[in-house]
Amino acid sequence: MSDLTKIFGSDVFNDAVMSERLPKSIYKALRNVIDNGARLTPDVAEVVANEMKDWAVEKGATHYTHWFQPLTGYTAEKHDSFIAPIGDGKIILRFSGKELLQGEPDASSFPNGGLRTTFEARGYTAWDCTSPAFVKGGTLYIPTAFCSYTGEALDKKTPLLRSMDVLSDQAMRILKIFGNTTTKKVITTVGAEQEYFLIDKKMFDARKDLMYTGRTLFGAPPAKGQEMDDQYYTSLKERVSDFMHDFDDNLWRLGVTSTTKHNEVAPAQHEMAPVFISANIATDHNQLVMETLKKVAQRHGMAALLHEKPFAGVNGSGKHNNWSMSTDDGANLLDPGDTPHENAQFLIFLSAVIWAVDEYAEMLRSSAANPGNDHRLGAKEAPPAIISIYLGDLLYDILEKVAAGDKIAENENGFIKIGASTLPDLPMDATDRNRTSPFAFTGNKFEFRMVGSSASIAGPNFILNTIVAETLSRIADRLEAADDLDSAVQSLIDDVWTEHKRVVYNGDNYTGEWIKEAERRGLPNIPNTVAAINSMVAEKNLDVFAKYGVLSREEMISRREIKLEHYIHTLNIEAITMYKIASRHILPAAMKFAARVAESINAINGTGLGCDISAQSEVLTEMCELIAKIKSNSKKLMAAVEEASKIDDVIEKAEAYRDQVFATMGELRAAADRMELICDGEMWPLPSYGDMLFRV
Ligand code: ADP
Ligand code: MG
Repeated sequence: MSDLTKIFGSDVFNDAVMSERLPKSIYKALRNVIDNGARLTPDVAEVVANEMKDWAVEKGATHYTHWFQPLTGYTAEKHDSFIAPIGDGKIILRFSGKELLQGEPDASSFPNGGLRTTFEARGYTAWDCTSPAFVKGGTLYIPTAFCSYTGEALDKKTPLLRSMDVLSDQAMRILKIFGNTTTKKVITTVGAEQEYFLIDKKMFDARKDLMYTGRTLFGAPPAKGQEMDDQYYTSLKERVSDFMHDFDDNLWRLGVTSTTKHNEVAPAQHEMAPVFISANIATDHNQLVMETLKKVAQRHGMAALLHEKPFAGVNGSGKHNNWSMSTDDGANLLDPGDTPHENAQFLIFLSAVIWAVDEYAEMLRSSAANPGNDHRLGAKEAPPAIISIYLGDLLYDILEKVAAGDKIAENENGFIKIGASTLPDLPMDATDRNRTSPFAFTGNKFEFRMVGSSASIAGPNFILNTIVAETLSRIADRLEAADDLDSAVQSLIDDVWTEHKRVVYNGDNYTGEWIKEAERRGLPNIPNTVAAINSMVAEKNLDVFAKYGVLSREEMISRREIKLEHYIHTLNIEAITMYKIASRHILPAAMKFAARVAESINAINGTGLGCDISAQSEVLTEMCELIAKIKSNSKKLMAAVEEASKIDDVIEKAEAYRDQVFATMGELRAAADRMELICDGEMWPLPSYGDMLFRV
């Protein structure tokens, strides 16, 4: 590979390109829009668009697209060429400011949860200039937000952008209280670690369940799983390493700072992590990561699986959403500082997060809710469905002492005393880690580990931003009104800690004791998607998102509807796929095998030698029993689907899929997985877990 510093970002219309190519005044005007949210004037847009087009054409582009993130969780793109006919059978290439600023896709075919009806289908996309445009596959990609014509958000990006502003406003109030006069805005920063599986493409193609649902709906456990702990961080197989190389190269060209790669705990499981960046760009980049994973895997004869639980009994995949707040001059607000003053400010931001996470735990939980994650949360490989925070013993202790107003002597463990209260110096122990916590403080950021591997990270981040903005606002109200800042800070930390330390848990989240302890503490345990989604429309949640204009009540209600419908569709597809695989592949194979065993019994008996055929009979009897079971469970499954699909009310329908359809799927699978272990391996119609997990 040639010079990485040259390759990196080579397909991105980034700041360096803009400052080099745009006239100085235009560049300055655009920077002012990007950095300070100034209004973009049409004449500036015109020049930028033209320059963007020229640059893209040099990179081989013929088309442009307004790239957006509808509520499907995926990205959407419609490509238009730069062609403009000039009358004599010739063309010129044109891209106007208007085309850069705004697009008008048909909104009716995207999920809208009742916000738009098909006869008033106009939607529009608006250029998000805070996320740089890029060229990919001969097209100029322009990141955009997607709204209905009346301004309702129909995408993932709009509430995220709104929430970043909201958090900035409230965080700025706190910074002012602490005497900061230089910071202009606060940016939420995110680094999303991405877990995924790689399997051979031939295996993938032979499994309709993977193709249609992203997970294996059948499959007996392999003889060897992950019990030897011999996969995590092991040396990369050549095929995987080649893939990762290509994957990184693709991402780097698009300006994604892919930096970490390693084998994960489960066989065939891997992880990548980028260097953190603003939440908005991190969200766009994570979409590119997921898309590039699939594309490059294909090129290498493999399939990348992003489902939260592709294999039952094997660790699933998550997305660790590392989150913090930073000033525009680069100070991380969750980084304990060197001075007592910085430490007081740090403890205030920390208190805001603790308060928000406890008070809005259900909302945060809902941001990690999808049908795939139901298989993963609480399965001893991912946090349980209870939101709690890991702080580490040291920080816990400090908050206890500060809350109690304990005087801590000047040099005791390096703690420092300020004013009437005791705000300590904070020596951080970076090795102090807890891998079982859903929301862990890791020294200078929080790591939200509940998020599913296939999910857009927009949801978790706009929710975090908004709920933390709310508690920052309450804190700012109090501190702004205080006469003595030191004692106001101390009493505030005391109040928040006393009220909300119940959400802090430093122990092992995977144990049964924690489940009981959490219940005793009154923390919500929301074990499945349907229940988690419902909490989105609790009054207090509707209120806080509407209060800041991140999502209006109608927008939030429509999102709940979309998520419920997504759940229903997912289970419906899974159930039908299961039924078809069972009737068209498993049962025929089973009958063939049973017939062969029966033939063998007859043949042996025919020899008249009086051989012992009890083993053959046992196999045949068991096969017949399982055939009957698979048949009856298949029928039961289809009956459950039919019943559920008749229900009108979306909640009741989702519950029926969860309680009836899903349960029956489990019964059908159990019978088939038992059969896999006695059937002839050569005749079994699906690649086995062992083949998929160990054959790359
Ligand atoms: P871990 O031990 O959890 O792997 P790392 O230091 O490797 O910790 O960080 C994991 C992710 O967290 C990376 O994507 C990294 O860029 C990101 N990260 C680090 N600092 C911040 C921050 N201040 N804000 C958001 N993400 C961050
Ligand atoms: Mg991590």
